[in-house]
Amino acid sequence: MPSESPTPNDQVPLKACVNFAQRLLQTPSMPGEEAAIAALIASEMNSLNFDEVWHDAVGNVHGRIYGRERELPALVLNTHLDHVDPGDPDLWSIDPYSGAIVSGEDGERIAGRGASDIKGPLAVQVYSMAGLRRAGERPRRNVVFSGVVEEEIGGRGAIYWVENLDYEVGLILLGEPSSNELALGHRGMLSVWVTFPGRSVHASVPERGENPNYALASFLRCLDTMQVELGEHPILGKSTVAPTIVEVDTRSKNVTPAWTRVLLDFRTASESPASIRRFIDRVAGELTYTVSAGYESVPLTDSETLLAGFYTPPESEVVRRARAAIAKGMGRTPELSNYRFATDGRHFEPYGLPILGYSPGDEAEAHVAGESISIARMEESLRGHMQLLREF
Ligand SMILES: [Zn+2]
Repeated sequence: MPSESPTPNDQVPLKACVNFAQRLLQTPSMPGEEAAIAALIASEMNSLNFDEVWHDAVGNVHGRIYGRERELPALVLNTHLDHVDPGDPDLWSIDPYSGAIVSGEDGERIAGRGASDIKGPLAVQVYSMAGLRRAGERPRRNVVFSGVVEEEIGGRGAIYWVENLDYEVGLILLGEPSSNELALGHRGMLSVWVTFPGRSVHASVPERGENPNYALASFLRCLDTMQVELGEHPILGKSTVAPTIVEVDTRSKNVTPAWTRVLLDFRTASESPASIRRFIDRVAGELTYTVSAGYESVPLTDSETLLAGFYTPPESEVVRRARAAIAKGMGRTPELSNYRFATDGRHFEPYGLPILGYSPGDEAEAHVAGESISIARMEESLRGHMQLLREF
């Protein structure tokens, strides 16, 4: 640890934070089943002398500590409460709900489903607030911890929070895994069904019909070669498209389909719904097809607005100030980075709220069997968070 760190070792509440993360991991919280973990977090914040702790109508849990300058817009520390399924237990060397301490190449780690995404980071957010209180300090502005439900299945908790927001927000800090670097955003998501019509006949006389699977095949071959035409955002990176689900109208093995459709999953910060439709049209060429909206809430319109999930430009004032404070706390300057995956930040972006990602979680650990988080990195993050709370 750097000697010039402004937070003495004994003021970083690492032990209690690790213990809290373990208890969070021992409390399963699949989407829609977050009540127990919300209650645990609320009782922890109450015992840590938060000024206000409350639940809302959809099961989100919130805690506020007043700042020295209460009139300033609040700093919000946001994480979700849910996690993905642990999957096949045989792929785990430990019980995924044990919160066991294991040793890795970089020292001790807490292991279990949700360690990096999102319970380790959640514990750091809560204990950075508690750490200041314990040191007899107040953050500069009001700080609100906001733990939201159902991020992994669409973001109902985040949407409810932002729609019902009744205080000013100066910055939302997402706890999604960023390895203690500063994430400026991520690409947006658009999923599109592309449907190819055919004429269904008995599979014994295929020449009498028109089998749409051949149209699909040539479409996918062209997509594979033409996807390089999709644009690139200078910070958020290259646009991608992945064909995922393929469906036909029939479940009979001896009937050729009346239609075939493929779901295209686009991730982009440089394309709009309209430019994606033009791209699909180029890929389809002479083929007959129709498009319809996939699973995401983003409508498939003619809008030319770019689809970025969220994006906070590197030259903005919040980036400069947050980066400087975190650097002082950690004793090293966080890199400016981006998320490959989508976050609840995309629900906040339309409201014009400044958003950044900063978290000790490791992106490579998210959603994998044997998920874990480095305790040393949690300590570094506690320092970064505490200094951000003091200065921002
Ligand atoms: Zn997450």
